[in-house]
Amino acid sequence: DAPKVLPDIEPSRLEVTRTNTPGELPPSSQLLFGRTFTDHMIRVSWTEAEGWSVPRIEPFGTINLNPSATVLHYAQSLFEGLKAYRQPNGTITMFRPDMNMKRMNSSAQRLALPTFDGAALTEVIKELVRLDKNWIPKEPGHSLYIRPALIGTNGLLGIQPPSEALLFVICSPVGPYYPKGFKPVPLYGTTEYIRAAPGGTGAFKLAANYAPGVVAQKSAAQAGYVQNLWLHGPEHYLTEVGTMNLFIVLKGSDGVVELVTPPLDGMILPGVTRDSVLALARNHVAGTKRLDGLPEQIKISERPITMAEVISASKSGQLVELFGTGTAAVVCPVDKIGYLGSDVHIPTGPDGMGPISKPLWKELVGIQTGVVESEWNVVV
Ligand code: PMP
Repeated sequence: DAPKVLPDIEPSRLEVTRTNTPGELPPSSQLLFGRTFTDHMIRVSWTEAEGWSVPRIEPFGTINLNPSATVLHYAQSLFEGLKAYRQPNGTITMFRPDMNMKRMNSSAQRLALPTFDGAALTEVIKELVRLDKNWIPKEPGHSLYIRPALIGTNGLLGIQPPSEALLFVICSPVGPYYPKGFKPVPLYGTTEYIRAAPGGTGAFKLAANYAPGVVAQKSAAQAGYVQNLWLHGPEHYLTEVGTMNLFIVLKGSDGVVELVTPPLDGMILPGVTRDSVLALARNHVAGTKRLDGLPEQIKISERPITMAEVISASKSGQLVELFGTGTAAVVCPVDKIGYLGSDVHIPTGPDGMGPISKPLWKELVGIQTGVVESEWNVVV
């Protein structure tokens, strides 16, 4: 017998059940990240025997799980985060959803959870965003945060590839990250805990990567810092900032600016914002699209960088800036790093954002909000 081809996610078979009790978008001033959810959600279940079920959009609501469900015991769980933006002309776009679908499938593979057609899920997500579009605030800088997740739901104790899974997508309206101008953050260089290790799971967006980060975040906060800086190895290589990728800008002895970010060596989450910042910088250098305010020449390096190098650059005046990148903040400037008992000073620009990150941030936000045209925007 030929192997049975099991169904993938099929947007044409989408079943929609609308809520009878629609909620109301709270005023912008009351929007806190991740507290408010829209009226509807996506659910697609999967079994080893039957493949992916018909995708469903249903009223936002609880998920019933057997207490023996593997997600609850063995963290068979992964997630994504992306945003939809309302453009000045009224259309709604998502920013590079293909990248999130690719990363979600790579996370699924790492956990032996089922993979799926990312373009098909994107179509279903578009339907959800269209249905809940009134939840996207109209004020500038606001957006809709989209949170897809995939969990193993087998009700059987025992660590094995799940034979049952649930993919779901919820959405949350969010306000601007910087309502009152850029605010550089102080980081705590964590030397007590690590986030990722070679051969581990740092390059995947697994729930299991985040729960152990909470204590590190908590001790950073207790020491008076806003986020923690994840270091690696006895050399204290810089890897990521809390839940953001990391960029360091140095000025070489030849005066040339170097934009450094740690390489995708298996310990770094391949951020969509990281990739976008690198692409914009490379297009600028290549002359494909020049950005106002950036020096003509920039050396772009995906390379390891140690705390010793950052400290030495800070002391010699060769450290230009250091910033995090991620979907939530886009760019987040850093003004100091608490490290082994003292603070490493990091320069920031006059308005809080540095000279290299600012033009990159401006272009990226311009694209996301429809001021600058780009293929990265996918019309909902
Ligand atoms: N690193 C980690 C650990 C993260 O959780 C995130 C947020 N997804 C990022 C980096 C930034 O990724 P992105 O630009 O895709 O949001």
